This record gives sequence, structure tokens and C-alpha cells, in this order.
Amino acid sequence: MELYNPESFNLPPLLIVKRTSRKNMENDIKVKNFIDTHLLLDNNFHKLFLDILEKSDEILKVSREEPSYKDFGLQKIFDYLSSKDMKKINTDKENTKTKLPLEREFILYFVNNFMKRINSNSDTESLIKILNPLFLETKKKLLSLSEKIENAICEYEEKNKKVRLDILSSTNFYFCNKCNKIVSKMKFTPKKCLCGEEIDKLSKVDKKSISHFNENLLNFINSNYWLEFGVGHLLKQNNFRILIGYDVLGNSGVCHEIDNIVYCPNENFRFFCECKNTDVKENDVFIFSGKMLDIGGTRGYIFTTAENTSENIKRLARSKNINIIENVLNKDPKDLICEIKE
Ligand SMILES: [Zn+2]
Repeated sequence: MELYNPESFNLPPLLIVKRTSRKNMENDIKVKNFIDTHLLLDNNFHKLFLDILEKSDEILKVSREEPSYKDFGLQKIFDYLSSKDMKKINTDKENTKTKLPLEREFILYFVNNFMKRINSNSDTESLIKILNPLFLETKKKLLSLSEKIENAICEYEEKNKKVRLDILSSTNFYFCNKCNKIVSKMKFTPKKCLCGEEIDKLSKVDKKSISHFNENLLNFINSNYWLEFGVGHLLKQNNFRILIGYDVLGNSGVCHEIDNIVYCPNENFRFFCECKNTDVKENDVFIFSGKMLDIGGTRGYIFTTAENTSENIKRLARSKNINIIENVLNKDPKDLICEIKE
């Protein structure tokens, strides 16, 4: 923990700490670039990054090839893939698109875990016949998602000429030339492919670069830290001194996560902010008010992307000296600042 006590302020110092996991996340270059766009409260940028978030999640899911049926025993998988079922998979695959993802997971699980136990070549061959289209489908899906992500970035930059976004990461995928299975990711590793092909040199694979948000950036967005930094930037621009995402030690001896700690320019005063990407509930007010009480805060603001907070909740907040600033993605920054100064 460190003592935070800015010189120009005559206020009781705060004992603060930033959690290591969060520090590491914020030190990621792509997360830094994301924060440095200073566009986090821009509604169109918000739509853009949510869209890329969704597609990146899908890329991770598709490429991971992890089963969601971890608890399925070996025997069940074998039963499932008895010759009758193999036929069924083939028919289902042609008949219903919606059924495919489930089948796909089954099969991939089977492939990754139990394929080695199959002895007869005919088993392998018939399985490969089923798998080839799935591998190809996976490959096409990855390429198409990556292309859509890059196009979305281009389009945004086209509309906003001054903006250059360096927020994507790329991962190399190596697909078997023969069956399209992903044989390695990130870097090329020689191995024997499921289809029997000995993948010992790069000419035996199709190397593709897939663009996406990296894991740190995904976590950063999913944890709603983007909103804390968006609000933080707005305040900084208006000469407030600000700490984002620190834990503060309360009088009780318990640490509280405070989204923004804000020192007012030319005034011996600080306030605390809570940033919410959801409706503000009664409980949010009580919890925030309780945290403030414990760390010795007297004034608070709750920033929310939601609108139409009920009058009762606003009244409750006011009674705790907390103001709720709503709809932050759709308001002019100047108006937001005015709401703070009120
Ligand atoms: Zn192969």
C-alpha cells in the first residue's frame, strides 16, 4: 500500500493500492493504446469495440477446440460415435445448422482426447470424412471474423480521419493443407496431423494471420474498466487530478475498490466516483455510500450508461450526498462536466 497525499491538497492522506492483476492488464500495450484513444465515452467507438469484442470472443471459442462436455466418459464418446451415430452426425450436419455446434464440440473433444485409441484405419478414415468439412468450416469462420474485425476498424478510421487505432492483436494459425485442421497456433510446431499427414515443414500448412482483441483487452472491456477510464479522461481534461481503479484502505481495516478518486482543481476538495454500465440499483447506492463512509469520503458521483434511473433511487442517492449522472455515452462532455460542478 502507498500513502497518497498530493502536495497542493490539505486533506487526510489515503492508503491506496492497485491490484497486480489489474496493473498487468493496464500495462498491456494494446490496452494502453485502447485507453489512449481517449474515445471511451464516444458512442460510435463504443459500438465498434463491443462488436469486435463479440467477434474476438467467437474467435477464441472457435479456435480453442475445447469441449464443453468435460464430464463425458470415454465409453460415452465411443458409444456416441458408434457407426449408427456417425451416420446420424452426417445427416444432421446436412439437415440442421443449429445442431452442428453441439456435434462439433463432441467430435472435437473426441478427436483431441481419444483419437489415439482408435486402432483400425477404416475408423480413422470415416471419421476424417466427417471432420474435414468441420475443419474447413472452422477455418472459414476464423478468416471471416478476422476480416470483419479489420474492416470495422478501417471503416471507423475512414469516418474519423484523425483517428488511428492500434488495438488489434494478431495470431498466426497453421492449418493442415490436407484436412484444414488447425495444427498449431502462434508459432509453427512440427507434428503429425490427425489425418495422418506428417507436418514437418511450413509448406505443409496454410499460415493465416487472424486479427482480434487480445485477452487482456477482452478482460479490460468485460470488467467495465473502459468506463472508469472514459470518465477519468473526461475529468482529467477538465483539470481534475485523478486516480483510476485503486483499492483504498478504510477505517475499518477493509480495502474498498474505488473506480475514480478525484481531486478538484484549485479547491481543497476530493470526491469519489463509481462507474456502472448497468441500471443503478438501491443496493449500488448503499454499497457506494458505505465505502465512502469507511474511507472518509463525503461526496460521490455514480456515472452510468443507463438512463431513466427512478426518482426514488436518485432521492436515496442525494440523501447520501451522491449524484447520479446518467446516460454518459449520449451526452456532450461539457454537459457531463456541468453536472459534476452543480
Ligand atoms: Zn491434416
